[in-house]
Amino acid sequence: MLATRNPRTGESDHDMPVFDAEQVAAVAHALRQAQPAWAALPLADRLARLAQLADAMVADATALADAIAADTGRRTESVMEVQGTVGTIRRWLDDAPGLLADEAPYRSRVAHITVEPQRRAYGVAGIISPWNFPLILSMIDAVPALVAGCAVIVKPSEATPRFVAVLQRIIARIDGLPSVLRFVTGAGPTGEALVRQSDVVCFTGSVRTGRRVGLLAAEVFVPVHLELGGKDAAIVCADADIPRAARALAWGSMGAAGQSCMSIERCYVQRSVYDAFVSALVAEVAGLQHCWPDIGAGQIGPIISAVQVPIVQRHLADALAKGARALTGGQVVNKGGGAWCEPTVLVNVTHEMAVMTEETFAAVLPVMPFDDDDQAVAWANGTDYGLSGCVFSQDLDHARAIAARLQAGAISINDAALTAMVYDAPKQSFKRSGLGGSRMGKPSLQRFYRQQAFLVNDGTPSPWWFAGAGNPPR
Ligand code: NAD
Repeated sequence: MLATRNPRTGESDHDMPVFDAEQVAAVAHALRQAQPAWAALPLADRLARLAQLADAMVADATALADAIAADTGRRTESVMEVQGTVGTIRRWLDDAPGLLADEAPYRSRVAHITVEPQRRAYGVAGIISPWNFPLILSMIDAVPALVAGCAVIVKPSEATPRFVAVLQRIIARIDGLPSVLRFVTGAGPTGEALVRQSDVVCFTGSVRTGRRVGLLAAEVFVPVHLELGGKDAAIVCADADIPRAARALAWGSMGAAGQSCMSIERCYVQRSVYDAFVSALVAEVAGLQHCWPDIGAGQIGPIISAVQVPIVQRHLADALAKGARALTGGQVVNKGGGAWCEPTVLVNVTHEMAVMTEETFAAVLPVMPFDDDDQAVAWANGTDYGLSGCVFSQDLDHARAIAARLQAGAISINDAALTAMVYDAPKQSFKRSGLGGSRMGKPSLQRFYRQQAFLVNDGTPSPWWFAGAGNPPR
């Protein structure tokens, strides 16, 4: 058993079973036995099971949201997470029949051969998820994998395991689903054991762990899809709608208390509108409240992971010591034993500060003026990360021209952090923010099957056969 900390009280109040390598192997063995029958089901039957799962999650939405709220210490996002996960399942129900329709055979350019395209699902998809959105990031890859015909094992974060029991009770009610969708709880060693048992791996988490998972997957020799961290930049041009940009960026940087991968972490503002923007942003941010003592009030939840608390404190202290000023917020405070980052706007920042270069998983937005587009683009790209970003300009061509120069997978224009909201836009991470196929949009499904081709000879002797073929054996 592993004790789990409650982010609202700081106390360990939950014990989580830890699956060792043998137990993970046993789960994988059972799923590998069940997977061929799941893949052989007509697509409509697999989708019917997933439709039942979505309905069952709706029926138990309160219990599920309560468990996620206990994991994360926040209510509004937990309710949205359940709704978002149900939405993800239902989108696949709509899209999968078109995407997985049998492809018509066609005549090859090799004239006497017909190609009959096939798809073969991987056996076991291993999914490793982080703590910042425990349910949705466990299911976002699990659902298309199940649609494609894989069996799925999920290892959620050890920081947020409380939702698992509720979800497993829901899954247990769906005919056939428990034999192809299982959870194994534990920390890093359980994750490594899962990679060793997987035929395809989807990992969401930090760059540091992602790199280890990638190396291990290479050793096991299975494909791996990595969705990692970011240091997303916003660029606010002189011709931006300033109140709108301020409102969008307050949400984009402080939503989920800044604990999402595509959170805006740096804001570059054209010098001529810098003062107006900063005033508008501070007005937005200063009004945000912690969800404390009432979990249902306010907008900003606690720092979920104990590991992050000293990192956020270090980033703030480093920035303030090097001359940054907090126009609102500026510290991590203790409320009831939990750690809460005050919604913070920093100015007088430089690229010598950790808050401008390292991932800050908290409600902190440093703002810096720029002089021209080249400078803003160079600064935005001056990072090893390349997850997403945003540009604000009322001249859409101007915004597009800047967006095209940004080295990141998803660029929101005149809005912030849209990646998490828009599921149908294929995108890949740039640089160290990830590796592998698109999680979003139609290509997402392709990660879970291999293409196989039947190459059918129409009866014509192939011209490359040995000239003597057909003669009696010598
Ligand atoms: P983390 O890398 O510490 O852990 C992620 C998962 O990996 C956990 O389940 C953990 O138990 C597991 N793990 C740890 N060591 C392992 C190992 N050696 N082998 C296999 N699995 C192992 O990340 P975290 O702190 O839980 O999450 C925060 C990070 O996730 C941030 O960097 C954030 O940006 C990133 N993130 C990315 C996305 C995205 O879509 N790109 C989404 C959400 C979060």
